[in-house]
Amino acid sequence: MITGKNYIGNTLKASGDKTHKTINPRLNIQNQTAFYEATSDEVDEAVELAWSAFKIYRKVAGVKRAEFLNAIADEILALDQELLDSYTSESGLPEARAIGERGRTVFQLRSFADLVSNEDWRENTIDEAMPERTPIPKDDLRRTLIPLGPVVVFAASNFPLAFSTAGGDTASALAAGCPVIVKAHAMHSGTAELVASAIIKAAERTGMPNGVFSNIMGRGRTVGVKLVKHDKVKAVGFTGSISGGRALFDIASQRKEPIPVFAEMGSINPVIITQKAIENRSDNIATAFAGSITMGAGQFCTKPGLLLTVEGDGTDQFKKDLAKKTIAIAPQYMLHPDIKKAFVDNVNMVSSQAGTEVVGKVEKAIDANEGPSQITSVSGKEFLANPKLHLEAFGPFALVVKAKDQEELINIINGLDGQLTGTIIAEKEDHPNLHDVIDALENRVGRIIFNGVPTGVEVCPSMQHGGPYPASTDSRFTAVGTNSIKRWVRPVSYQSFPNALLPCALKR
Ligand code: NAP
Repeated sequence: MITGKNYIGNTLKASGDKTHKTINPRLNIQNQTAFYEATSDEVDEAVELAWSAFKIYRKVAGVKRAEFLNAIADEILALDQELLDSYTSESGLPEARAIGERGRTVFQLRSFADLVSNEDWRENTIDEAMPERTPIPKDDLRRTLIPLGPVVVFAASNFPLAFSTAGGDTASALAAGCPVIVKAHAMHSGTAELVASAIIKAAERTGMPNGVFSNIMGRGRTVGVKLVKHDKVKAVGFTGSISGGRALFDIASQRKEPIPVFAEMGSINPVIITQKAIENRSDNIATAFAGSITMGAGQFCTKPGLLLTVEGDGTDQFKKDLAKKTIAIAPQYMLHPDIKKAFVDNVNMVSSQAGTEVVGKVEKAIDANEGPSQITSVSGKEFLANPKLHLEAFGPFALVVKAKDQEELINIINGLDGQLTGTIIAEKEDHPNLHDVIDALENRVGRIIFNGVPTGVEVCPSMQHGGPYPASTDSRFTAVGTNSIKRWVRPVSYQSFPNALLPCALKR
């Protein structure tokens, strides 16, 4: 049952008087429950509890943490229809998407459970002593990875399950041995509370310390800022806007003890389409990208927002086909009226820049919170000269850029901000000419896709979801896949330690 209260450790609390309500984008009305924003004392209590829980939880054996993570997955599934109903009523996304995202969330939790059920993930390294070494004997050295401490996770608006309360950040941090305090996204507070209740049940059932998890609500930045400034918080995970991620990163680095903020933010995900690919299969490419641009109403961090072509036969026809197919796909509800407004404003801003042409846009009447798809185009020269054309429009929109030749295309890639992904659509005959494109992309993106679409992020160890700033604040790490656990740990070496005092996995 949704109560509208915060989970401060295992206890539901609502001592404040500030409330907010979520919105049903389909019906364009407020949902009924009033959610109590956490007071300053409640925030402090959640962090203090997390700090005391950390002392116990960091020592909990991997198999027990795995039991906890699997129990969370079971409890989420047990929420059944109540969770699906809350998800759809707060996001406007269809039930099929809710089921898919729940499956991904459960899969992530179980993947981390598998990972930590043995100690291999800690990359334990042992250099045995060499007392006879000359001229200086070598000491015994053993290195492992240990958890950082309490982690604050900012839930993402566009993934109410898989990147929210029990999403990838929470699952990886709990797997690493870090207690988690989630700052729920205000626009899916009910879904957040339900999932939090599943985590708390799992924690109690598997004997985890009170404070290993809290779910707190707030709007208007106060709660989030207080959490990031708290001296007992040791790392932050964030998915959302560049301005939000950057603000939290700056706050964290100005603390007396700066802490890491792993923020996954904006991306326009360039796609390079060769002339030969357009000549051979323009129609198929247009179909695939119309689907990818509009998937989930374009509200994916990997949505292809920039299609780079080189002037030639078929380029103009390609962009017309793309626009026709994109706007033929039925408009979908966006997550929230503010996100729709930001989308429409950004599309209008990009499409009113000098030299742009609106190739196609939805003209018919649509519901208040549906997202109107649009394709705009511009020349490579204009794109290079105007930074406003590089901005993300979070929704079903793409800008098609026509470069005059390969040299201009490479200049465009080199001039882009950091990106999560880059995609190459090319034919076999193009292969000898692609080395420069690949070199340029490697310097700008975290994942390069060949003859595919960037939407659809596989959860597996080789996935890289993160790229040079502003795609993320630390391009050395991934936010998806089991390697994302590395964000929440740090290495420690033990030199000349007696066996009895070494961590179990490092013992002789
Ligand atoms: P957001 O505005 O960045 O908010 C996300 C979370 O960060 C919220 O909990 C918010 O708390 C907090 N926050 C934001 N700015 C903050 C600040 N200066 N100080 C402290 N906390 C702050 O993102 P959103 O609500 O999800 O969507 C807004 C826009 O972000 C979208 O239109 C889209 O452009 C972009 N977005 C991008 C991605 C992506 O994956 N690239 C995903 C989602 C959204 P409060 O509620 O307290 O303000």
